[in-house]
Amino acid sequence: MSSMVRKAICAAVIFCAALGWSQAKLSVQWEELTAADFRSGIQQSQGVCVLPIGILEKHGPHLPLGNDLINVRYVSLHAAQQEYALVFPEYYFGQIFEARHEPGTVAYSPQIQLSLLQETTDEMARNGCRKVIIVNGHGGNQSLLPYFAQTQLDKPRDYVVYVLNTAEIPPGGPPRKTTTDMHAGETETSNTMIARPDLVHLDRAGRESGADLDRLKLPEGLYTAIWWYAKFPNHYAGEGSAATHEMGEYRMKAWTDNIVKAIRAVKADQTSLRLQNEFYEKAKHPLDTRP
Ligand SMILES: [Zn+2]
Repeated sequence: MSSMVRKAICAAVIFCAALGWSQAKLSVQWEELTAADFRSGIQQSQGVCVLPIGILEKHGPHLPLGNDLINVRYVSLHAAQQEYALVFPEYYFGQIFEARHEPGTVAYSPQIQLSLLQETTDEMARNGCRKVIIVNGHGGNQSLLPYFAQTQLDKPRDYVVYVLNTAEIPPGGPPRKTTTDMHAGETETSNTMIARPDLVHLDRAGRESGADLDRLKLPEGLYTAIWWYAKFPNHYAGEGSAATHEMGEYRMKAWTDNIVKAIRAVKADQTSLRLQNEFYEKAKHPLDTRP
């Protein structure tokens, strides 16, 4: 091997190693990056950003108020480390009127929920996030977030909002032992045992009842806001004491995998923005729209 070839190979190896090192080093957390590194992060993410959304609410007698955000950030950060995406800082500002009677709940008005979310995604987009994936960590946001995503068609925007709801957990994990398991119960407590075991007070989980009181009888399909309180006045639905580390491990991995899959799908999606633009253009002249 000539010395020139040897030098060239050597330089390439050093260059690649340096590149790999600097890429591995780039944090996925928006707030941890310098301004210059943020530019590299946007490039590396291909403009795909993740907004994990949680809430401040009571979680039974044994879990922390910030439980949902703690868990959704845990899986979002792990997912973004596997498939690079920029993760927005802590965002607690969702829908939680049904827990206003419990200590520590922070329930912003409907207007603030929507406008803060809009300004947040607008600002993310202005900074290069062409695709924003809102990863939901809180059951009370399940109506808010698809509604928010739908309202993105009200006027032209140069970015796409995607909403990823809590993942379906594939069969095969540790079987569930409890039947009521909707809030701070067996599965959610298991998840927190992975994200922040130091904040799980399993010994307190039985101090209150998380049973379904079923106090309101309405036909299926007829909705009213007090349905949740009618069932679970302690804002606790299930039995946290049934939680296990094994169940948490299985579920948090499945949730993480689901977010990785979503980030990859969003990176590959070249259709949504194109069709959005086509739609916005047509919406300016509806009478010209022909079948
Ligand atoms: Zn929760």
